[in-house]
Amino acid sequence: MAAHRRPVFAANWKMNHGPTQAKTFLSEFLVRYAARDDRTVILFPPSITLAAAREGVRARRDIALGVQNVHTADKGAFTGELSAALAADAGAAFVLVGHSERRHVFGETDAQAAQKCARVVEHGLTPVLCVGELLEQRERGETEAVVLQQLRMGISMLAPTAARRMLVAYEPVWAIGTGRTATPDDAATVHRVIRDALAEQVGVEALDIPLLYGGSVTAANAATLLEADEVDGLLVGGASLDAAGWATICST
Ligand code: PEP
Repeated sequence: MAAHRRPVFAANWKMNHGPTQAKTFLSEFLVRYAARDDRTVILFPPSITLAAAREGVRARRDIALGVQNVHTADKGAFTGELSAALAADAGAAFVLVGHSERRHVFGETDAQAAQKCARVVEHGLTPVLCVGELLEQRERGETEAVVLQQLRMGISMLAPTAARRMLVAYEPVWAIGTGRTATPDDAATVHRVIRDALAEQVGVEALDIPLLYGGSVTAANAATLLEADEVDGLLVGGASLDAAGWATICST
């Protein structure tokens, strides 16, 4: 990790922790994790929990909130959906775009990820674009090609000035929720590819874009992963659901 990039610790709660559980979680987490200005902590609760989470972190300006997905449209007849405009109004600052579960469970395409990044930026929010290969793609030696395609398409509708403000998360699909983690060397290799591709698109400011690793991160492996070159932060699913464990990870 480069010294000038502040580490980012992002919790993806997926479809876990409703408002009541979030309240309990935050009362425990905030006691265990004191504010620090040398890192960024972001929580991505389910959108129905956002208001409760916002209330829970009201006294903690060091903790930001985000949503896990948005629609490509700003508003309209899209029952069950959520737009970047609504997320901004509800107090989100970040949006996960193109998470592997969106891509592989809900069939989201690179083109949709691009539109979502554009909507997110239009509404003053920061996209966290998730990219990563499937196991069979990795085994066929396609990791770099898959990641570059998702990355280049994902940022294709953003002006360089906007792309410079985003975050990118490399999440190999075979590592998500499986207990299998990429080695620090593997993560560093792919992060270097991402950094170089970003530099081609946005110039030298690509050096300031935080690149997060995600995939079965735990309190036990967080430090080793963060030591890898080009790994500026962690996007954590399962291990972020436990307040004590998440506090430990955020204190890495
Ligand atoms: C995720 O969903 O973004 C994730 C990385 O999950 P997990 O940490 O559970 O592998």
